[in-house]
Amino acid sequence: MIPFALHTAASPEEALGRLADEPGAALLAGGTTLVDLMKLEVLRPSAVIDISRIGLDAIERTPRGWRIGALARNRDVAAHPRIAADLPLLSQAILQGASGALRTMATVGGNLLQRTRCGYFRDRTAACNKRSPGAGCAALDGVNRGHAVLGVSDACIATHPGDLAVALAALDARVTLRSRDGERTVAFTDFNLVPGNTPERETVMMPSEMVTAVEVPDLGYARRSLYRKVRDRASYQFALVSCAVALDVEEGVVRAARIALGGVGTKPWRAREAERSLVGRFADAHAFGDAAARALAGARPRPDNAFKVAMAERVLARCLLDLREMAL
Ligand code: SF4
Repeated sequence: MIPFALHTAASPEEALGRLADEPGAALLAGGTTLVDLMKLEVLRPSAVIDISRIGLDAIERTPRGWRIGALARNRDVAAHPRIAADLPLLSQAILQGASGALRTMATVGGNLLQRTRCGYFRDRTAACNKRSPGAGCAALDGVNRGHAVLGVSDACIATHPGDLAVALAALDARVTLRSRDGERTVAFTDFNLVPGNTPERETVMMPSEMVTAVEVPDLGYARRSLYRKVRDRASYQFALVSCAVALDVEEGVVRAARIALGGVGTKPWRAREAERSLVGRFADAHAFGDAAARALAGARPRPDNAFKVAMAERVLARCLLDLREMAL
């Protein structure tokens, strides 16, 4: 690991001041991504600012929904009894991510900023546009079974690795960002960027900003929601395909739907066209199959990951059928 300066911040203001004064610095919360990548020398910050003691960890009910501090531990969010009841897809998504030990350390804000698991990104000897802009992409013609099929570009096909992020995309969450100059909120579906020609730029955050909270608005029918994840083994594994789905059905007709996909996109993938296609239709296998096909209509698979298209369609259609049984 390359030497670095370590600062321990006592408040958000102190952390933001240091971040503004030292643009090459990185924020350390749970450390479950940053430390790994520093050991591999994929990330080489000039300084590390420990923000684990600055608060920002409250999980609060607000008049419009929930406000979750960026430093709330994933374990605590998943275990919150009202979140588990009101937003089961959120709780389920967290519990299907990583391991118990990692969920205990990992924070909500850090989770949203976790880096791709593309093996070439983590291998400093491989060509990777995300790590070294202009270097090329070894995954395009390399081992790409786990890579994305939606939102890809000729520069990068790395999959967004999140689970919590997929649930937040389905729930119309908003992210609060703060810098020394002030605060702004961003729709979570706009927070992550598709790679395009600049895969090194993964979010709309500025270098001087940090995530301070996530706001999740009320969605009454989210009590009937689920997160399902298909992976190579049953725990501590990233998704091949995942779905975060909520469905509002009345007298057999879909009134509203929320659909987001994980494991297949370069960002948490909200499937709005699929959602729109369901509204007003009978909640049956035909409608769900049609919606699933629409969700994957823009897929650009490589030979090794083409299976994800059919898999995602089947998993999504199955999730919708299962939710219908809950909703009727
Ligand atoms: Fe790098 Fe993206 Fe290519 Fe992976 S897919 S090697 S992260 S440019």
